[in-house]
Amino acid sequence: MTEIVKIHIINIDFLGNIFCVFLLLPVIVVEEYMNKFSEDKYISKQIVKRLPRYYRFLGELKDKGVERISSTDLSTIMNVTASQIRQDLNKFGGFGQQGYGYNVNSLHKEIGRILGIDTPHNMVMIGAGNLCKAIMHYRSFPRYGFHIIGAFDICPEKIGTVINGITVMSMDELEPFIRTHKADIAVVTVPTSAATEVLERLSKTDIKGVWNFAHVDYTMPNNIQIENVHLSESLMILSYNIADVSKGN
Ligand code: NAD
Repeated sequence: MTEIVKIHIINIDFLGNIFCVFLLLPVIVVEEYMNKFSEDKYISKQIVKRLPRYYRFLGELKDKGVERISSTDLSTIMNVTASQIRQDLNKFGGFGQQGYGYNVNSLHKEIGRILGIDTPHNMVMIGAGNLCKAIMHYRSFPRYGFHIIGAFDICPEKIGTVINGITVMSMDELEPFIRTHKADIAVVTVPTSAATEVLERLSKTDIKGVWNFAHVDYTMPNNIQIENVHLSESLMILSYNIADVSKGN
């Protein structure tokens, strides 16, 4: 007898996540954008959260030289229904044409524009520890217009060290650096005990978005978007799904 084994996969899409820093800002921008089309073209947060995935798949198709794709073929690659794809993408002004499919380049470009990644973003890292190093060594961010331009720490032994070509600066230099270099995203990788103080400090700067990895839920002022990333929560969902299957659900 064949035994069916279910394996749960939780995909962590860091890029998708960082897009969300600007995306959830963007819910407002996107809503305004959508109003240009029609009132029934309201775009939900769920759709917004799917956009980075569309962007990634379309980018891969573009790199392979694919010029157009049908919703059916895109649905096979992305493992979602063709009707979901049509519903989602129709919200963006009907890039698909009957019998032609979607123009990969135009759709990729438009989604990038909606995601706010058609213009580059300058990021600063706060808390130059293990996680910060891992993020700073991730090579795909610049491809999407995310440039790490500075790193800061409070610890004298860390200040002056170099991570992937960037010299760690003292926290005393944070505000002037943000101002002078027009940094618009701060990545918070300090211990939980220091996070509230750091976030409070950031709330008084010109930063536009915070990608927060520390385990605090902090409310930023309205003009600053915050995206909290909790890897352990994602792992707990995986654990729940495994437990759920072993109960026979
Ligand atoms: P780490 O101890 O290696 O690094 C923390 C760094 O922050 C240190 O270099 C420390 O000197 C610096 N720091 C402390 N107080 C500071 C302050 N006031 N201002 C500036 N810098 C300060 O820790 P890590 O393993 O890199 O983890 C960093 C944070 O990320 C922790 O809060 C951890 O819980 C969290 N974390 C989150 C996830 C997640 O999924 N969200 C995953 C791993 C780690």
